[in-house]
Amino acid sequence: MAVNVLQHSRLVILEGLKTRSRHFSTAVIAQKNYKLVVVGGGSGGCAVASKFVKKLGAGNVAVIEPCQHHYYQPMFTLVGGGIKSLSDATRPMKSVLPAKCDWIESKAVKFDPVNQKVTTASGEEVGYDYLVVAMGLQLNFDKIKGLPEAFDLDPQVVSNYWTKTVVNTYPAIQRFKGGNAIFTFPNTPIKCAGAPQKIMYLAEELFRKNNTRKDTNVIFNTSLGVIFGVKKYAESLLKVVESRNIQVNYKRNLVEVRASEREAVFENLDNPGEMEVFKYDMLHVTPPMSTPDELRTSDIVNEAGFVDVNKETLQHNSFPNIFAIGDCNSAPTSKTAAAVAAQCGVLERNLSAVMKEGKQSAKYDGYTSCPLITSRGKCILAEFDYDAQPLETFPINQGKERSTMYHLKAKVMPELYWKMLLKGYWNGPGVYRKLMRLGMGSSQKPSA
Ligand SMILES: Cc1cc2nc3c(=O)[nH]c(=O)nc-3n(C[C@H](O)[C@H](O)[C@H](O)COP(=O)(O)OP(=O)(O)OC[C@H]3O[C@@H](n4cnc5c(N)ncnc54)[C@H](O)[C@@H]3O)c2cc1C
Repeated sequence: MAVNVLQHSRLVILEGLKTRSRHFSTAVIAQKNYKLVVVGGGSGGCAVASKFVKKLGAGNVAVIEPCQHHYYQPMFTLVGGGIKSLSDATRPMKSVLPAKCDWIESKAVKFDPVNQKVTTASGEEVGYDYLVVAMGLQLNFDKIKGLPEAFDLDPQVVSNYWTKTVVNTYPAIQRFKGGNAIFTFPNTPIKCAGAPQKIMYLAEELFRKNNTRKDTNVIFNTSLGVIFGVKKYAESLLKVVESRNIQVNYKRNLVEVRASEREAVFENLDNPGEMEVFKYDMLHVTPPMSTPDELRTSDIVNEAGFVDVNKETLQHNSFPNIFAIGDCNSAPTSKTAAAVAAQCGVLERNLSAVMKEGKQSAKYDGYTSCPLITSRGKCILAEFDYDAQPLETFPINQGKERSTMYHLKAKVMPELYWKMLLKGYWNGPGVYRKLMRLGMGSSQKPSA
């Protein structure tokens, strides 16, 4: 592109101004020590910042977050299924972070828990009295040989997990003319363990609608040894896969995609080293995940790379002024936004107590939830705790496919997310569960 001298000098001046203002804000932030620093502006980070900025006031809370957009990821299943658009699931980051907190638009790259500071990618050192880590999970597509290239080479290779690829899922389903449609589940902890199969049910339904189902094998290749970690919902899902003639292969881990041959290579985890090659005509990949590299290599994580917290209090096991929420912490529960909501209330009470040098009283019971969409209009609402025991909100059998639960998932939950959770007003359905079950005999465990 040709640029004349006048344009060039204007560009230089503009760049100079931009750089100066960037340096100015950097210097101001670098000198400031915040009472509370939150790392990550996703579900957990926004909710925690909203809660504490109300308590601590403007200028005392900072959020370190590099992204310009916030995504309501639970909607990605509906985006991939052609029911919602990506823009429905997206908001500018500025609009979801509380106005009174300082947004440091950079990545956290170094944690110094002894000197109580975090260094950002732009070189700032941000001091804190208290730190909440809410960095979520990183998608490791590159751990599967040939997969990053396959996304570019073959439009039938898709993934609902990434903003760049979720928009390709529905077109791939609609283009599909029969053959093998394979859906994968990796060999690492992931966010929303139900999502790899939810998109399979939506796709299978569309294959029937498009008259391609009779020429199609729908295959779920999962690294796990069960279809779902909670017996009650696993039993329901097994009935769904059986009635819809879906083949489930357990202990199969995707290790390679050969886009030019349309082959997916799986390792048989029952017999490590043994590879099986599947031909595919559509491949939906759930990638291996880990905490972000900057966190995984820090001193605040456990051996598995998760922020090492007490599973009940969510306080760090070695640094009492650090807490962690959501997908990046070591709480051994299924990683969901629903878990974030329940953790949020516990973290609020316990961190507030620590700030006042009081006793922590709130305990997280592992509550998590997964709306298992089985078709456009049907959903099994799984809710459970650390012991993989159902912890259901409604006094009906949630193990059944229900249209009410679908509407809850598609219509009510997004509102709850944007208007309540991110604003710091939603701590999960614990209170409602107690109210709904008042006086009713139930096999459910009492809620926390
Ligand atoms: C396809 C799909 C379907 C899902 N379905 C459901 C569902 O039905 N129900 C449900 O409850 N949950 C669902 N989830 C899971 C849910 O979205 C997550 O569990 C939840 O968003 C976790 O919140 P978080 O705050 O821990 O992480 P996130 O919301 O992922 O936020 C992490 C933030 O940290 C930021 N970050 C990362 N690295 C750094 C760094 N170095 N420095 C600063 N910031 C950083 C990121 O930019 C991001 O903004 C689904 C997720 C997906 C992908």
